[in-house]
Amino acid sequence: MSRSIARSDAAFKRAEQLMPGGVNSPVRAFRAVGGTPVFVASGSRGRIRDVDGNEYVDLVASWGPMILGHAHPEVVSAIVETARNGTSFGAPTERESELAEAIRGAFPSIERLRLVSSGTEAAMSAIRAARGFTGRNVVLKFEGCYHGHADGLLVQAGSGAATFGSPSSAGVPEAYARLTRVATYNDLEDVDRLVRDIGNDLAAIIVEPVAANMGVVPPAPGFLEGLRERCDRAGALLIFDEVITGFRLAKGGAQERFGVRADLTVLGKIIGGGMPVGAYGGRAEILARIAPLGRVYQAGTLSGNPVSVAAGIATLRLLTPDLYVRLEATARAVEKILVDSARASGTIVRVQRVGSLLTPFFGVPAGGVGIRSWNDAKLCDAAAYGRFFHAMLDRGVYLPPSAFEAMFVGGAHDDRDLSHVADAAGEAMRAANATASGSP
Ligand SMILES: *Cc1c(COP(=O)(O)O)cnc(C)c1O
Repeated sequence: MSRSIARSDAAFKRAEQLMPGGVNSPVRAFRAVGGTPVFVASGSRGRIRDVDGNEYVDLVASWGPMILGHAHPEVVSAIVETARNGTSFGAPTERESELAEAIRGAFPSIERLRLVSSGTEAAMSAIRAARGFTGRNVVLKFEGCYHGHADGLLVQAGSGAATFGSPSSAGVPEAYARLTRVATYNDLEDVDRLVRDIGNDLAAIIVEPVAANMGVVPPAPGFLEGLRERCDRAGALLIFDEVITGFRLAKGGAQERFGVRADLTVLGKIIGGGMPVGAYGGRAEILARIAPLGRVYQAGTLSGNPVSVAAGIATLRLLTPDLYVRLEATARAVEKILVDSARASGTIVRVQRVGSLLTPFFGVPAGGVGIRSWNDAKLCDAAAYGRFFHAMLDRGVYLPPSAFEAMFVGGAHDDRDLSHVADAAGEAMRAANATASGSP
């Protein structure tokens, strides 16, 4: 394919002299798939355009926030109109309550909430709230789930039968990692083993109710209910990290979709409409422990930022029941495109989808129980995904530059986008497959 990327190449070389890996968040550097990151010039609806003028159907959508597509006129005018009246005051504004009401209205488990500036900050703060409320120290998380990059959450399962976690990043002290235990997703027996071991020092279990940071892995029937039950029995809090699933799987997120209620919910991405925002909320008695009411400290100069809040309000207002029907149909169409093109080219691919989130796991057969945890996901053929990724990129489709991230379908993806993806996928599957078997 002849796709000119001279200007992206130059932009990347320049950026590499300035920022680690040339980027401000690691996945953007394309290390998992190789090649030069696409430098984006603009986005509109379901597409982005790079600095060389190439256009792509965008199935990353800023990793979720752009559920309405890029530059939605109502969101843009909310941002512009708000900015005209000042962009930050470090004092309360009425709009913060408007966004808080919209969030609380969608999540019955959220009685009180705090707005922050990122999902990382929200997850970190929710855990501090859980520890402050319970007076306990240990947090249980799941291998393959991502909750942002706070120290205590960059922890992976220890090797062998070790019950303690170990840091998954340099710079995280072992002492922090020891306060986080790591269980296997969808494995309640493993949870029971760890909960028993932790005893009465378990403050919270934090989970992505649909895992979307190891590729899309749905909760097995009974898994979320099982976590709810175990938290209740242990006197610990259940924290749902709905940074991706909130307002995406349904207005009320995974909690609405699966009918399981969390004590604390972590939000981000969509609720900022493409501006930096996070939020955490839950039972009033827990949030009553946050300063200035209580002794759990948490603050932010730009928390509840007027422009971010305005973008969030405008976005949430546009999330109609009709939109969710459309998202489901469009995502089902993308799933079918991937399944059909894999079958036609003889490529072994299993597509896992929940609502508008989906992942093709290369090298994994379509039948059977599929990918249930990180132990399963890590066995997929990431090299085949990399070939598919580049073949799609060359044909004008921007996919997540990693085999272990979700594709995000949005409300602005239309029939023209879908037929473009279908044409590209047909060819790209063959290309990915042909390279694998060594034929020309
Ligand atoms: C993106 C993400 C976060 C972190 O949010 P940031 O805004 O990137 O800090 C936390 N949890 C989940 C599930 C996420 O997908």
